[in-house]
Amino acid sequence: MKCALVTGGSRGIGRAICIKLGSLGYHVLINFRSNSAEADQTLSLIHNNKGTGELLPFDVSNKKDISETLGLWTEAHKEDHIEVLVNNAGIKDDVLIMWMKDEQWENVIRTNLDSFFYVTRLVINDMLMKRYGRIVNIVSLSGLKGLPGQTNYSAAKGGVIAATKALAQEVGRRGITVNAVAPGFIKTDMTENISEKEMKSIIPVNRFGTVDEVAHLVAFLASPESGYITGEVISINGGLYT
Ligand code: NDP
Repeated sequence: MKCALVTGGSRGIGRAICIKLGSLGYHVLINFRSNSAEADQTLSLIHNNKGTGELLPFDVSNKKDISETLGLWTEAHKEDHIEVLVNNAGIKDDVLIMWMKDEQWENVIRTNLDSFFYVTRLVINDMLMKRYGRIVNIVSLSGLKGLPGQTNYSAAKGGVIAATKALAQEVGRRGITVNAVAPGFIKTDMTENISEKEMKSIIPVNRFGTVDEVAHLVAFLASPESGYITGEVISINGGLYT
């Protein structure tokens, strides 16, 4: 089986990516942390499109959980190959630095940045052996520009952007591409408290983006035909920041 692992696939952008990759023939491994009802819904939507998938819950901020759960899956599926890895799971916890607690810094760094390392390191061995792989990291405008109140989140996403560029150079010869997608404002649970009505005037396209628009870009980068694009950070932000 050709598999695609999407972290944070239960909701939002991750769900749309799962559905898109499922419709392209990948068996989708839907990772999530705790929201199994939403993850079940993602799987049903994949099935509705005649795709296949399975749930693979683990906490991307916990390296032990990653190595146990994903490690077990890999051991038990020696004939199956994760060809596409989308590091999408993420959280934000915004506060000005003077009021930021240790846990707020650590949780955001662990979930958004450390997860890239621990998940990718496990998955990439098989890609190296097969001499083929597509890795897409979901970062953020915040990691490119920096946003006030998000020193933790900007640092984490900026770290993933730098790691994307470094890893692309490590593994390019082995047929593996590594790219990042940097969304602006996309309509999901993460942005539910941000008013589109108030913000849209500063966005040239005059609206928030949709999860399907992000999934379309991820599917493009994940396709075999995109093999000459690597180490790139592609913004999808309606022209808000270039
Ligand atoms: P949502 O809050 O809608 O969904 C987050 C997803 O990540 C859920 O599936 C959640 O699982 C999962 N998740 C969170 N923490 C963990 C964890 N520790 N282990 C495993 N899974 C976890 O987020 P979005 O869809 O909006 O965001 C997706 C990605 O896009 C994130 O990396 C985010 O930073 C980035 N992004 C989003 C933007 C936006 O405007 N929405 C803008 C720029 C970047 P569960 O359901 O179990 O909680």
